[in-house]
Amino acid sequence: MASADIQARVERFQKMAQADPDNELGHFSLGRAYLDAGMHDQAIASLRRVIEINPNRGPVYHLLAQAQLAAGRKADAIKSLTDGVKVAAARGEMLAKNEMIRMLQDQGAPVPEGPAAPAPPPAQPIGEAEVLCTRCGKVNPKLPKPPFRNAQGQLIFAKICAPCWKEWVGMGTKVINELRLPMNEPEAQKAYERHMLEFLGLQ
Ligand SMILES: [Zn+2]
Repeated sequence: MASADIQARVERFQKMAQADPDNELGHFSLGRAYLDAGMHDQAIASLRRVIEINPNRGPVYHLLAQAQLAAGRKADAIKSLTDGVKVAAARGEMLAKNEMIRMLQDQGAPVPEGPAAPAPPPAQPIGEAEVLCTRCGKVNPKLPKPPFRNAQGQLIFAKICAPCWKEWVGMGTKVINELRLPMNEPEAQKAYERHMLEFLGLQ
């Protein structure tokens, strides 16, 4: 990607993060744009803000550790990875967990013991119209039907509760407006989809 494109992306996500300072997705996207732009300290600050808003998403620690390593802050990166492995293990984010374990091993750092225990079984039984939501970790009403007629729709239907989906629908509108996504273009649809999967923790 040309550096002008990266700069434009940074500016777009800066606007989004400023317009909605409690929006974890805005800060996360901004952090990634900073990292791509080689602005490591800014990336670290943005990703720390995401963790303040929501400490329970493994991929954020993964990205933070990459920024810290790029900035030469190895001890900080090891701390982020160690925390991140535990968070990802508890949330069943296997991809992020395995990536972070690999990074810890690359750094010659110990991998935290015993985080493999999956989320404890729900206290209440899961009813027919309910789902143990992988995003919020709660047993909540499920969607009445898959939101899309494809594998992704099925995945969301099987893993995401109705309240979390509703949250995304609100956020998705913001994403379209604030990023000015032209939704008739395949590139914009892809960007939207990426935000959606990130928001729902389904990458
Ligand atoms: Zn949920």
